[in-house]
Amino acid sequence: MTIPYVRPEFRMLPAPTPQSQDYWAGGRDGELLIHRCHTCQNFFLPGAPVCWRCRSTDVAPEPVSGCGSVAAFTVNRQTWIPAFPPPYTVALIELAEQPDTRVVSNIVDIDPADVTIGLEVEVFFEEWEDVWIPLFRPVDVSRPAKESN
Ligand SMILES: [Zn+2]
Repeated sequence: MTIPYVRPEFRMLPAPTPQSQDYWAGGRDGELLIHRCHTCQNFFLPGAPVCWRCRSTDVAPEPVSGCGSVAAFTVNRQTWIPAFPPPYTVALIELAEQPDTRVVSNIVDIDPADVTIGLEVEVFFEEWEDVWIPLFRPVDVSRPAKESN
């Protein structure tokens, strides 16, 4: 069941580092930026100056489609932060480009009871101060396709 997402009053925000700054700011341009190694071609998270697979330093953030699927999730029902009320879903999302590259985020626009492993999702961004939080919602074929560059 669809439950339209309502922006919370508050979010715990990340403190971007030089290596994660592009990830948190990519949403300004509607892009999910994930570090990629230009030697072995693999994506990886979190961003780092060295590829953990092949030790190459020829790495840089690169836009991905923002499409993926739920690899694992949990539903939080405990009120930890009064201005960020439960229930909410915290998930590992496998990127369509490379399934072993997984983003941790919330799945919204859906009843947490309806979230399943394998659910196809797409990114959108929520701006808070100077960061754009990547959030994911079920793919909706009735929604206009994202413009490609
Ligand atoms: Zn590599």
